[in-house]
Amino acid sequence: MLIVTDLRKSFAGSSRAARVNAVDGVSFEVGEGEFFTLLGPSGCGKTTTLRAIAGLERADGGHISIAGRVVLDSATRVFVQPNHRGIGMVFQSYAIWPHMTVFENVAFPLRVQKSRLTSQDLRARVLDTLRVVHLEAIADRPATTLSGGQQQRLALARALVFEPVLMLLDEPLSNLDAKLRESMRFELKRLQKERNLTTIYVTHDQAEALALSTRVAVMNNGRIEQLGTPDEVYSRPTTAFVADFIGSANLLQGTVSHLTDGGAEVSTSHGPILARTARDVRAGEPCIIAIRPELIEVLRGGESEGINTRDGVVLAGVFTGQGVDYEVRVGEETLRCRTPASIRLDFGAPIRLRLPPEHCLVLPSNGRAAEAVSLAAWGDRAKA
Ligand code: ATP
Repeated sequence: MLIVTDLRKSFAGSSRAARVNAVDGVSFEVGEGEFFTLLGPSGCGKTTTLRAIAGLERADGGHISIAGRVVLDSATRVFVQPNHRGIGMVFQSYAIWPHMTVFENVAFPLRVQKSRLTSQDLRARVLDTLRVVHLEAIADRPATTLSGGQQQRLALARALVFEPVLMLLDEPLSNLDAKLRESMRFELKRLQKERNLTTIYVTHDQAEALALSTRVAVMNNGRIEQLGTPDEVYSRPTTAFVADFIGSANLLQGTVSHLTDGGAEVSTSHGPILARTARDVRAGEPCIIAIRPELIEVLRGGESEGINTRDGVVLAGVFTGQGVDYEVRVGEETLRCRTPASIRLDFGAPIRLRLPPEHCLVLPSNGRAAEAVSLAAWGDRAKA
């Protein structure tokens, strides 16, 4: 349905010499009916990619086709104008028209487009679309009287009324409060399934991406770091960046000592760790071990020592609702672990942690020091 090949876009930077490579050779394909998400931190190039697909940004290079039709080809200088690409778009600032009713907000784009619909057909089409987003009962209300969630649904209806072949959504839920955002996620998913809408979704919210998407492209510095199903990017990250950005991860620096059956033994500043490998590694290679806080076991009394156990001291903890996130000092490093709310650890108390080898993943070293995200920020992320 959508094919993006080697998309590139740079902008003039603050100094004359430096240009910002906002999108640096991005390629992906999206199948019909997929919910495909571009996920990454602020400034990684998600919006520029989406705007290039929409035709709102002229890419420097690359190829884009939508439903078998070439809309951009830098080699042959093809560039199809945004209004001829058959796409629907909803942005963060969805800007509904306050002086119009709900009905008119959806009807207006059709009228402007000078569509050949009779007024009866136009009315039927608008009401049909309002039904899909559950707003038909308040079609005659002024748009200003709508709640945030209703306004968001209205923005969706306005994009849907054109029956687009492709829907582009750029952080459409970010203006809503947490509760509403969650219910709108279900709405979006329902809509997308009901209409079999091919959707490209942009967000920096990993929870949103995992909940909604059929596949996720994790972006960093204008490139796709990993592309896969939510389960793949969460359970089998291929880089430390992805491991850390999706959920949260302890990243421990080490060096591969030797290979084992299905994994490797890695030496770290606090002793050896057995870990699994998802790619070829060689003895002597510097690496990073990623392990998620919730997969570290907290051993409480009597359990045996082992290669993947560590003694530590509890530094701090934050209650997240589902459990408690703790920072534990182990040697020179700080590890993060998570316990159910029923288990409380005393600050300053010695504890033993077990890092199950099957949950320790050897990733390529990217030169970044093993880092512990500050517990406050980490707590925020857990809540997000
Ligand atoms: P956010 O989540 O904050 O919107 P993003 O991942 O969508 O971020 P982009 O908006 O695509 O990122 O921006 C990618 C890079 O390109 C950033 O460094 C940004 O400052 C730069 N950039 C984007 N648009 C322009 C522009 N019109 N002029 C100059 N630089 C730009």
